[in-house]
Formats: sequence, C-alpha cells, structure tokens
Amino acid sequence: MNLLNKKTVEDLQVKGKRVLVRCDFNVPLKNGVITDENRIVAALPTIKYLMNQGAKVILCSHLGKPKGEPKPEYSLAPVAVRLSEKLNCKVVFAADDEVVGANARKAVDAMKDGEIVLLQNTRYRAEETKNGEAFSKDLASLCDLFVNDAFGAAHRAHCSTVGVASFVEESANGYLMAKEIEFLGNAVENPVRPFVTILGGAKVADKLNVIENLLNKADTLIIGGGMAYTFLAAKGYSVGTSLLDNEKIDYCREMLARAEQKGVKLLLPVDCVISKSFPDPIDAPIDVQVVAADAIPADMMSLDIGPKTAQLYANEVKSAKTVVWNGPMGVFENPILAKGTIAVAEALAETDATTIIGGGDSAAAVNTLGFGDKMSHISTGGGASLEFLEGKELPGIVAMSDK
Ligand code: AMP
Repeated sequence: MNLLNKKTVEDLQVKGKRVLVRCDFNVPLKNGVITDENRIVAALPTIKYLMNQGAKVILCSHLGKPKGEPKPEYSLAPVAVRLSEKLNCKVVFAADDEVVGANARKAVDAMKDGEIVLLQNTRYRAEETKNGEAFSKDLASLCDLFVNDAFGAAHRAHCSTVGVASFVEESANGYLMAKEIEFLGNAVENPVRPFVTILGGAKVADKLNVIENLLNKADTLIIGGGMAYTFLAAKGYSVGTSLLDNEKIDYCREMLARAEQKGVKLLLPVDCVISKSFPDPIDAPIDVQVVAADAIPADMMSLDIGPKTAQLYANEVKSAKTVVWNGPMGVFENPILAKGTIAVAEALAETDATTIIGGGDSAAAVNTLGFGDKMSHISTGGGASLEFLEGKELPGIVAMSDK
C-alpha cells in the first residue's frame, strides 16, 4: 500500500459539488471557551481552497468523548463561532442531536457554492466509533465527495473517517493530511540519510512496535525519557527507583542485540539527573544530582538525561539529514528536569536536516519551549503519528481513492 499515492483535494472536481470534510476540531475547551485554536487554524487551507473552488463545504468532526450521546458540553457550537471569525464569513451550524437530521438536511439543501455548514459532534452518535453502516450512509447522503483532513483521527476506522468513503463518488486527503503523509511517510520510507530517530516518553511498553520498525529503517536510534531505564537494566545496570518495566527487560536486551546485528547505532544515557522522589506537584522545586548511568544509587530515581548525554545526543543530531523525534527526554514539565529535552529541541532547531516531531507530548514540549517554528514539521496527531512510525497503515488514509 502506497499511502503517498492517494488522491488529494486538488485531484477532485469540486465546483458545485457538496463536499463533506472530516476535520480534527477536537480542541481543548474551558467553560465553553476554546483555549487552543491550533487545530482550527490547521484545517483552514483545505476549507479555503474548497470555498474558492466553488464547492459547498460541509464540515464534520468529533470533539471530546460524549460516548455516543448528545452532551451539550461537547457541542461544536464554539467551533462554528471561531471558524466563522477565522474565515470572515458565515458558518451555518446544523445542531442536530443525531448529527445528520432535519437541521443538517435543510442547511445543506439551502447551500450555495462556496458556503459552509458545520455538523454537530460526530460522536453524539454511538455508531460513529463502531464504523456502523447506517451513520456512514447518513453522512454520505449529504454529500457527493468526501475529503479527510483529520490526521489526528486517521488511525481510527470510524464512520466519519472511513465508513463514509465507501458511499461517496470519490474521496481524497485534505492538505493537512497530505502534509502529514508527505513528511512522516517520506521520513520513514525514503529518508535522506543519515536518519536519526529519537524516542523518549514514559513507558517502553507503549513504543515496542515503534522501536522495532525504526530499527529496520534508521541509522541511529536514540533513547531517552523513562523508557531508557529498562534498556539500561537490560545492559545490567542497576537503575534505582527509576521507571522500570521488568517484563520488558528481555525485549530491550533483544533490541540491543538486533541493533548491533543490523549496524544501527543505539544510544542510551551515559549520565542521569537523579533525585530521591518524583516531584509533587510535577513542577515543584526539586533537589537533583548528576551521576553516571551505571552509578544510580538504589534509593534514587533518574528523571532526566544528564549533560554529557544531552551533548552526545545533540552531536548525533548535527550529523543527521533526517530526524524524527517522539517523546521527551525527562520530566520536562518541571524546569529543573527539562534541560535534556531542551538540549535535544535546541539541536533540532539548529540543524538544517528535515526535523519531524511526533504529536502529543513531544509536540507540546517543542511548542511550550518556543522551538515550534524551527521544526520542518510538527505532527498534529499523537496516536496517529506513533502508528505511522510503527509502520502501520492508517485506515483513514487507506480508505481514500487512489490516484
Ligand atoms: P509519553 O506520554 O509516553 O510520551 O510520556 C511523556 C511523559 O513521560 C511526560 O509526562 C514525562 O514527564 C514523562 N517522563 C519522561 N522522562 C521520565 C522519567 N525519567 N521518569 C518518569 N517519567 C518520565
């Protein structure tokens, strides 16, 4: 399956057609107010293109987890307002509890070319997350063409990401989706070498498939964050009270051996920032020391990579042509324990290599640390970008028409 060979929105004849666009409008809300509009902004290029081409643009998305029932706190009403401000035009909000109901049909029937209708939260319908046929058909009955631009939901086979595509004339990826596929797809399948990958975050168990896939693709695999200590334990080091997954020590040993067999450089921390306990609250002041990675005392835990490790990892980034990074190097939420993550972010910001940040925590870390605009690409999908790095085919992309 060549995910790079899927139709994009520019391959469709959209003038005068009703085009349903699945966006990722799953924005954070506080008391009904949108606190981060990035996902709305990311959806604008596709929406504007379709408006300018004279399509009738019908938008849909999920928001939060209403669990198959209409719940007012998960209404997309605030998104309709913000979207209208961003586009400087009217956005008709079709607020049907059943998503595709009388309001949606009436609004779509009344549309002129270039106009916009937003449907209610797709997860108000229980069938949505089960990819049920009735809701997929309901969505398809509103439109002629389908465009999926919700990368953050592309790893899920739901009615509004996958099911609907079977009941429309043609379907294609939107600009955001195409950009994610281009960066993540090219990095993993045809990277300009040296290809350096950096994995961090809390648990090794969450990233087993990513580690295995990247060992087949990358020239260097750098490990930091909580997951590093299971690898260090696999090397026979004692890791004190650091995060450790006893059941995965053998797995890490196998990965170390596999890296050696394949000639992949696998880098682990050589020094650590240790403390007596985990900070509580997470950003509370904390006493720390730096020790060699093989000298963590039994009653101490490592919460960040040390300065020598940060230097080692930064040097490796300097020689790379492609870098993919997923997961912080330490407990970056605490300024005292964020130094390793900052050092890696700085190295990525300074290099001319293509730099790609997996979504979720690493994207948040890079953005809050102020390096966002220095990266080639920051993925909008946490789970979706991880599955991409695992080498899985994302159902939301597979379902689109081939070129
Ligand atoms: P993940 O969701 O797997 O990307 O993990 C991100 C979380 O890992 C962040 O909240 C970090 O605080 C945490 N983390 C990173 N390094 C460590 C560490 N050495 N010990 C405990 N937690 C860590």
